This record gives sequence, structure tokens and C-alpha cells, in this order.
Amino acid sequence: MERQVDAAAIAGNVATIVAGCDALVCGVVKADGYGHGADVAARAMLEGGASWLGVVDVAEALALRAAGVDAPILAWLHAADPDLLTAIEAGVDVGVSSLAQLEAAALVGATVHLKVDTGLGRNGVPLGQWSAVVERAAVLQASGAVRVRGVFSHLAGAGDASDAAQVTAFAEACAVAAVLEPELRHLANSSATLALPGAAHDMVRVGIAAYGIHPDGDDAEGSAATAAGLRPAMRVTGTVRDGVLDVGARHGLLPASGAPVLVGDRVVPVVEVCATSTALAESVSGDAVLWGDPARGEPSAIAWAIAADTIGYEVVTRMAAA
Ligand SMILES: *Cc1c(COP(=O)(O)O)cnc(C)c1O
Repeated sequence: MERQVDAAAIAGNVATIVAGCDALVCGVVKADGYGHGADVAARAMLEGGASWLGVVDVAEALALRAAGVDAPILAWLHAADPDLLTAIEAGVDVGVSSLAQLEAAALVGATVHLKVDTGLGRNGVPLGQWSAVVERAAVLQASGAVRVRGVFSHLAGAGDASDAAQVTAFAEACAVAAVLEPELRHLANSSATLALPGAAHDMVRVGIAAYGIHPDGDDAEGSAATAAGLRPAMRVTGTVRDGVLDVGARHGLLPASGAPVLVGDRVVPVVEVCATSTALAESVSGDAVLWGDPARGEPSAIAWAIAADTIGYEVVTRMAAA
């Protein structure tokens, strides 16, 4: 099994997104860069014009620093008890999702992005507490205890109507937070960046699209990604002998009966993904491409996602451990 990552594709995708929107781009490299390798993805995104990098925890941010990445990083912190001191020493901004986290950040002088929950229902200050948290942040900022660089929220992606409600709620939350004079207001993920340019504010946080996968239910050929100018960055290859592929669930494959595998110039469907191998529908032998770039006649990761009844994010991210 080999997982090849086309850094130029990631850089190109980010450049396409940068060219298509008025806001700064924060390239999201959580989950080991969605399985592509966090430092490779981070460098490629910066080369493509990303201004910021986004991760979930401080440990991911520190790993990037250790790899020599000195760009601005935001860790939005889902951990209950994050290592704020280490984040500050590494020059990493942190997300703050509660009054308690704000107080903790102020004790150590962190630079924060206040997160408001506009409807996702997890990780963010509830709208009902937002004014109180903003007021407290204003006091702490005036005394120099904390710097509020950003105000942000995350879209649930639960449909157009609910996204629209979140977009409106975020604009209202930003109005309340104007007193903090935040430099960066950010809401949009890949989906909103492509579909709702009006929701971009100062910065967009782009993950899956940067890896060349369209966020919104693409077809098996990846046509929506191609139409948006995005090129898939991951290519996974293996070897088939007598209809048995040497890649299996332990390498990160999902159970995806029917998924296409390119063997030589034949597309052969998967019968069953086993622990360390995969049975194909024909007794072929040769070099195999599981997924890569449909523009080169290779199957797309989306075809695997459809066969496994999931989304492209799952297909590529699970290869991280390989
Ligand atoms: C993962 C994540 C993103 C990126 O989402 P995509 O849909 O992959 O673009 C943006 N913001 C936050 C807070 C995230 O957790």
C-alpha cells in the first residue's frame, strides 16, 4: 500500500479558493491534514496563499511548530483542559468556548478567538450567554489580561435553511462583539466558502476543499470538485494478485463493497474489504489504484465514500494512520 500526496494539488486548490474569495484563508490541517500529513498539507496551503492554519488541539499546533511551520495558527480547542501556557509559548491562538475558558486564558495572557454557538450545539458560548461573555472579555482585554483577536462560529451543515439561520445569528453575535474590535471574524467552512460568499467575513476556514474533495455530496466521478477547479491530492495504490488486493481495513479502508479499483486499465469492483487485504470481483493481477485523480482515469475517493455510505472526509482521513 502506498499513499501519495500531491502537495501541488493542495497548493493549487488553496490558490483557487484564495482567488475566489475576499477573505483571508485559514487552511485546516486537523486530523493529520485529513490524512494527507499535517506538515505537508500546512506548507502546501501556505504556498497556495493561506494566511492562517487551523487545528483542533494544542498538540497538533506544537507538532507544526516543531516541523518548522511559523505561520499563524489557531487551535480551536475541544479539550476540556487545554495546555494554554504551551500554546502561548508557541505563539498559537486559542479558541475560547466558555466563560471558564476565557478566565483561564486571561490568567496566562492568551490571544483568543471567542467562539459563539450559532446552532451547532457543541463547542461555543450559547447565544444566551454571549453578551455576558463579551462584556467580561471587554473588561479583561481593557486590563491587558487577554487579547481577543477573533470571533468565530462553526456551521452545522444541516441544510440550507439552518445554515442561513446560523449566518444571521453569527452576524448578530458579531454586532454584539464589535466592542472587542476583533480583527478576524470567521464562520465559513469549505461548503460555505464555495456556496455562501456573503458569509466569508474576514476569514474562511477551509479543510476538505483544499484536499480536492467537494464538501457537498459530489458524484462518483468528483464532477463538482472538478467544476469548482479542485483537484484531489491523495492517491492510494496497491498490488493485486489473483483478485486479492494487498490493502485492507487495517490500512484504513472502509467496508466499501462495490468500490472501484483500477487494475492496469480495468476497473474492478470490490467484493469485500478484509483486515489486511481486499477481495475483488475478478481474478486479475497487477498494479492497482484505489483512488486518485479522476482526470487521469483513476477512481475518485468519492466513489469509495459512496460505496461505504459515508463522506469523502472519512475515506481520506482514515488513511492517516497508514
Ligand atoms: C474541520 C473544521 C473546519 C473545516 O471544515 P471543512 O468542511 O473540512 O472545510 C472549519 N472549522 C472548524 C471549527 C472545523 O472543526
